[in-house]
Amino acid sequence: MAFADEFVERRMLKFACYKCDHPAMLITKKEELEVNEDGSKKYKVELACPRCKATDEFILNDGAEDVAGIALNAKKEPDLNKVI
Ligand SMILES: [Zn+2]
Repeated sequence: MAFADEFVERRMLKFACYKCDHPAMLITKKEELEVNEDGSKKYKVELACPRCKATDEFILNDGAEDVAGIALNAKKEPDLNKVI
């Protein structure tokens, strides 16, 4: 199963909040973008910290399946296998 299937709104991603270092962010939105050359679909995933309410976002399947882009605010790539 592709990692993208695990990214469902209201689930949590183990990815530290860039602002308060809370260890997990809530997945608040998963928006479909274009289709990659390998046939996988690219998504924009929006995240919110349940503690301080800071938001972040990154591209899931960034150019190819199971590749994460660098998060806008945290400036690092989330691990795609850390959805809990
Ligand atoms: Zn936070």
